[in-house]
Amino acid sequence: MAIPERWLGARRARQVQRAIRNGKITLFCLFITVLVLRGTIGAGKFGTPEQDFNEIREHILPRRISLPHRALVEASSETKSKISEAEEEDKPSDPNVPYSLGPKISDWDEQRAKWLAAHPERPNFVSPGKPRVLLVTGSSPKPCENPVGDHYLLKSIKNKIDYCRLHAMDIFYNMALLDAEMAGFWAKLPLIRKLLLSHPDVEFLWWMDSDAMFTDMAFELPWERYKDHNLVMHGWNEMVYDQKNWIGLNTGSFLLRNSQWALDLLDAWAPMGPKGKIREDAGKLLTSFLKDRPAFEADDQSAMVYLLVTERQKWGEKVYLESAYYLHGYWGILVDRYEEMIEKYHPGLGDHRWPLVTHFVGCKPCGKFGDYAVERCLKQMDRAFNFGDNQILQMYGFSHKSLASRKVKRIRNETDRPLEVEDELGLLHPSFKAVKVSS
Ligand code: UDP
Ligand code: MN
Repeated sequence: MAIPERWLGARRARQVQRAIRNGKITLFCLFITVLVLRGTIGAGKFGTPEQDFNEIREHILPRRISLPHRALVEASSETKSKISEAEEEDKPSDPNVPYSLGPKISDWDEQRAKWLAAHPERPNFVSPGKPRVLLVTGSSPKPCENPVGDHYLLKSIKNKIDYCRLHAMDIFYNMALLDAEMAGFWAKLPLIRKLLLSHPDVEFLWWMDSDAMFTDMAFELPWERYKDHNLVMHGWNEMVYDQKNWIGLNTGSFLLRNSQWALDLLDAWAPMGPKGKIREDAGKLLTSFLKDRPAFEADDQSAMVYLLVTERQKWGEKVYLESAYYLHGYWGILVDRYEEMIEKYHPGLGDHRWPLVTHFVGCKPCGKFGDYAVERCLKQMDRAFNFGDNQILQMYGFSHKSLASRKVKRIRNETDRPLEVEDELGLLHPSFKAVKVSS
């Protein structure tokens, strides 16, 4: 094939550049060798590699010779501190100014109904009984303190993209702190409000933490069950309303219906969020009010339990606490059972036999310190990822060698009739019916 002249020219230029660069590197290496030899011989000793390296660093780096991998370094400590000084959003909020998520809206249902009527091309139900769903997740705008954490964030978003594609849902990944007062686990509140208002066609918003992964790619939510409810969380009525237990429900994976009710709920949920004195004092109140809660600043989950317990009349009727399958599944009780599940069951069940979601509560893979040993967390996150990913790879004739392995093996031979391949769960071809595999 003839290569256009323009490309040839560019290619030649690149070759010349490369030759010059290689020459520079060779000279640079020669220079270092001379320097090291001079240093070690001159000092009458042969240093350890570490001493040599230190010497090279002291001699050479101050002269600002650029090293080829410099682009890999995100920012030098110097620029880093400048950036964080300029961007520091750590101002505590003023406890005397009442916090608000935004202008009061009281006719959202009417506004939205009008919009939907004017846009028949964007219905809030994609098919009868199947609401339009936006899966929302996100992480801090900053790189992880533990660098490998960013790799796990990538795995986690890949996992969610797969589930969303298979279940015809949209996905939104947020990395912006929309409201500096609501940093950390509270960041989801202003974000959710903004997305509900900006996407009137979305019927349900599905929030999912970055440390939660889909482990059942085939399970479709039982939408019909929630037709009269506005908020669906994994949890138990007795644990929330009777025991006031702070882990009676989980806010790491929940559904919220786009409605005036949702806006009102967000307003009622938010007041403990603003960071500083408000959040700290609210934390004390929550710890004294709720069962088994350790002492720490107010978190969104405890605040939700508190709200439901203290205002059950107002909200309870529209809240569905789901425990028939794992909308959120605590990793500690699931990850050691994956092999057993593979042996005995199949995807599509969503419950203890094949959990829809495995949530790594407390692991904080992106932070410096978590509640659990980081090693154990990362190892188990890999297993959960591979467990879910196998269900994707299998559609294409591959599988991970084991749950601990990044490597894959072939499980089906290639065929010259690729369209006749029937994948077990019927998820491969776009015409799939969002399957619900019965037990
Ligand atoms: N999060 C975010 N921005 C931040 C910090 C956290 O969007 O600056 C999200 C992220 O998705 C995270 C979730 O908030 O998973 C809740 O925090 P985490 O999972 O650490 O809490 P846990 O589930 O362990 O209680
Ligand atoms: Mn989480």
